[in-house]
Amino acid sequence: MRTINYRQEHTKSWYAATISEVTNYPELEEHLSVDICIVGAGFTGVATALTLAERGYSVALVEANRVGWGASGRNGGQLINGISGLAKIQKRYGDGIADMLWDLRWRGNDIVRERVAKYAIDCDLRDGFVETAVKPRHVKDLEEWAAEMERRQFPHRWELWDGAKTREMLGTDGYIGGFVSYHDGHLHPLNLCIGEARAAHGLGVRIFEQSPVTGIEHGARPTVVTAKGRIQADSVVLAGNAYHFLEPKQLANLVFPAGSFIMATEPLADEVIKEINPLDLAVCDMNEILDYYRLSPDQRLLYGGRCNYSGRDPRSIKEILLPRMLELYPQLQGVRIDYEWGGKIGIVLNRVPLLGRIHGNVYYCQGYSGHGVNATHILGEVTADAIAGTMETFDLFANYPHFRIPGSQWVGNQLIALGMLYFRMKDLM
Ligand SMILES: Cc1cc2nc3c(=O)[nH]c(=O)nc-3n(C[C@H](O)[C@H](O)[C@H](O)COP(=O)(O)OP(=O)(O)OC[C@H]3O[C@@H](n4cnc5c(N)ncnc54)[C@H](O)[C@@H]3O)c2cc1C
Repeated sequence: MRTINYRQEHTKSWYAATISEVTNYPELEEHLSVDICIVGAGFTGVATALTLAERGYSVALVEANRVGWGASGRNGGQLINGISGLAKIQKRYGDGIADMLWDLRWRGNDIVRERVAKYAIDCDLRDGFVETAVKPRHVKDLEEWAAEMERRQFPHRWELWDGAKTREMLGTDGYIGGFVSYHDGHLHPLNLCIGEARAAHGLGVRIFEQSPVTGIEHGARPTVVTAKGRIQADSVVLAGNAYHFLEPKQLANLVFPAGSFIMATEPLADEVIKEINPLDLAVCDMNEILDYYRLSPDQRLLYGGRCNYSGRDPRSIKEILLPRMLELYPQLQGVRIDYEWGGKIGIVLNRVPLLGRIHGNVYYCQGYSGHGVNATHILGEVTADAIAGTMETFDLFANYPHFRIPGSQWVGNQLIALGMLYFRMKDLM
């Protein structure tokens, strides 16, 4: 079995520096019996735990490091509708499910908003996301998306921007159009994750940190095993995404860890903010290998991108990201970079999230291929529904065929890196 250094504290990020609560849930050192045991306390695990607790299940949540330690506490904080691979799901199962998938793609935004309000979670939630066109074909895609929004009489505010408006609102010549959705937005992901965990704990969820799960013993009631404890449950949910290596017989070589990286500038002056993002939008370009950024409440630019598909961490994150930021915003020449960090996203070859069950009662939900703030909340609820016996949506994903790359995970990562080189060339053309 793969080994990894668990029992770590949060990576040094701007998020960790502005954490709302330093969690200190106990290590698992007992034998427990619950309805559901969840492995991994990122958004997938925490959102699923909270949904199940709200429905009256007894739940235990076991985390190898700290709540929100993985991608959930490190990401760009962009709350964007959709789930990767949805178009493939629709193609496979037919247009009859198109309306259902449309509602599903927005569900995560609603869950997050409901929870932030219901549990008074302080995570700097802001409305507004702009997807920016870099090439004429992107503009066409945005126009088609606007037509779809009109056809569906989308009830929330949105705007299609031409090149001039995009330049005016984002203070850069880098884009030739944009689509703004005010029902998407951005937030402090670590504080959202911690706040949701706090809410789940308040509803009785037993949370354990610094408790790496070493294996699952299968049976009518499977048992989750750690160094010092055991939890038996009717169902188990594996929510370790790109950071777990459990159940290798069924899950190895299906989800590949890729690095994504972010840096945070020093706080920017008011006049700079007015020039580059007066509407305080989350921004993401439409390249295959994309850049994303937004402002923090203390006026830093959090600039991310440049996925590394080979599985290796770069020597310097700043060295990779700074030239890209300055290409878009030469006016930021000379700003100090105060933080730089990275995390692992789980890439699935066909981009359809990997959901399924092992021996009927060990569920897995992982592999969002980049996006996930919204998708984890949707698929966490879908997994909770499946545990409660409503399988329809879960099975749309679980029955989707996946290709397992033969050989080691290293081979898989190299193949993915090669594939991404093709997309990079496409972006450059
Ligand atoms: C730098 C970066 C930027 C991103 N930006 C965005 C963005 O702006 N918007 C967006 O929608 N998505 C973004 N994503 C993707 C998004 O963050 C992820 O898809 C999402 O957070 C996945 O959540 P998760 O809970 O499934 O996994 P994770 O958050 O990675 O959590 C998995 C947890 O499982 C735990 N674990 C693993 N193995 C074990 C074990 N054996 N025992 C116990 N616990 C275990 C880990 O410690 C970890 O805490 C980004 C990702 C990264 C890395």
